[in-house]
Amino acid sequence: MRPIALVAALALCPLTGVVAQVADTAHSPHADTLRGTNGPARAWWDAAFYDLHVRVNPADSSIGGWNGITYRVLQPSQEMQIDLQVPLEVDSMVQERRTLAFRRDGNAFFVTLKARQRAGDVKTVTVYYHGRPRIARLPPWAGGFTWAKDSLGNTWIATTCEGLGASVWWPLKDLLADEPDSQRIAITVPDSMVDVSNGRLRSTTHNADGTATFEWFVADPINSYDVAVNAGRYAHFADTLDGEAGKLTRDFWPIAYHLDVAKREWQQATPMLRCFEQWFGPYPWYADGYKLVEAPHLGMEHQSAVAYGNRFLNGYLGRDLSRTGIGLQWDFIIVHESAHEWFGNNITVQDEADMWVHEGFAAYAEGLYTECQLGRTAGAAYLIGVRKSIRNDRPVIGPYGVNTGGSGDMYPKGANLLHTIRQIVDDDTRWRGILRGLNHEFWHRTVTSRQVEQYVSRESGIDLSRIFAQYLTTTKIPEFDYKLEGTTLSYRWDNVVPGFDMPLEVQVPGLGTRRLHPTESWQTLAVPSPQTGDVAVDENFYVTARNTGAPGATGTGGR
Ligand SMILES: [Zn+2]
Repeated sequence: MRPIALVAALALCPLTGVVAQVADTAHSPHADTLRGTNGPARAWWDAAFYDLHVRVNPADSSIGGWNGITYRVLQPSQEMQIDLQVPLEVDSMVQERRTLAFRRDGNAFFVTLKARQRAGDVKTVTVYYHGRPRIARLPPWAGGFTWAKDSLGNTWIATTCEGLGASVWWPLKDLLADEPDSQRIAITVPDSMVDVSNGRLRSTTHNADGTATFEWFVADPINSYDVAVNAGRYAHFADTLDGEAGKLTRDFWPIAYHLDVAKREWQQATPMLRCFEQWFGPYPWYADGYKLVEAPHLGMEHQSAVAYGNRFLNGYLGRDLSRTGIGLQWDFIIVHESAHEWFGNNITVQDEADMWVHEGFAAYAEGLYTECQLGRTAGAAYLIGVRKSIRNDRPVIGPYGVNTGGSGDMYPKGANLLHTIRQIVDDDTRWRGILRGLNHEFWHRTVTSRQVEQYVSRESGIDLSRIFAQYLTTTKIPEFDYKLEGTTLSYRWDNVVPGFDMPLEVQVPGLGTRRLHPTESWQTLAVPSPQTGDVAVDENFYVTARNTGAPGATGTGGR
């Protein structure tokens, strides 16, 4: 039954890592804690630079190579945790020409360092490894290595590892909270292939053994699940865009026989970048450029090298997630995955539990892109449309410290929480300032959901803490209860966290549009004369409404 369950889950949660976790791994609490917690063998050192060199062998689906892990010592310690997942094997670990002893605990290695580690030191451990990495069973959700063929039979290789973690194919501190300041990614493949990884291509070396090494360099902090191999028979075209922060280089890498269709469909990268720079601020990676890379899976937000597999169709594989028709006006993968350059890659959460900050804002960005292209009404209709996918099965924020995300609702519900907050703020200049301010305040940083929530409250001048708590930590949707009796409208919030006090825009018969401030206690409002019409809640607010005066009434207004 699992494949059926998986398909059902995918239809509801387009790009969630949650499915990968459900589908992929037999978890133990001990392994999840080692992976998801900044434990004692991790917290004392700060990753500064990863120098990754990997040889990729499609003939036998194996890889091998080394990663030079350069780090700053924050506090003296001698035991270091380095993550590399089974079935990969560590061959050796070396520091200052001395071979180190290590023990393995599942997907974590604990290495005992010989050189003294003093606070402030910058040191390097080099990890040599090899093996046949986990094969991605359903990329990008159940990730790992994909060994595919393009439709001409040429080998086409890709990695995907969101949620699962980069340690599925290379050794590192596999913790969202610690990004290196920069990284080299040198990938060796058969020389009939081209590898497109993140950042800028510094050199291509043709080796005597029939392979070629593509040396890529990422000049900025990068979250490790974004580091990727994309190797195949690629074509290339490029241009520059005059953006907010100067000239942005753009490189496009379709599979060679898709060059013409890519030149057409990928033109959407221009209005996308313009729209998101306007709403979110400068593209975060001018140093590394913007790239779209065709991949043998649906897509992933690989930093500065967005993976694309949407078949050059508008919508989500030709479908509209909002079921309004509006989602067919643009290419979902270009828009959603590129939005992660701001929310996900520029601003990265420290714990998988807070992943809504990536997915909620990226899903919200789909509505903003619709607004840029088709106007405000269409943008709102799109976001209201995706509400139909919300299940309210589990809270959006997951458990901390165990590398586990919350509900797949983090996409549509996260988007609708943000759309609702925009209504509360009720000032689009300020709202845009908040979205841009988040990217400025947390530029190239990792955050907690709490930091994001507090920033939005502070900059809006409204205490939104109970609203965040309601939508992110419970599965309850606020219910606006009202009754119209004679010349009195009575109203209150029900099904809410204590102290919930969200304002609400309501059409009141005889009074027109009113911004009410309901609380959990009944309040009243005088209407001019006995009214026959019904109250209507502004459906931009993600709430339910119930006329408690109507016999058997079950609810109207916002869904
Ligand atoms: Zn996403």
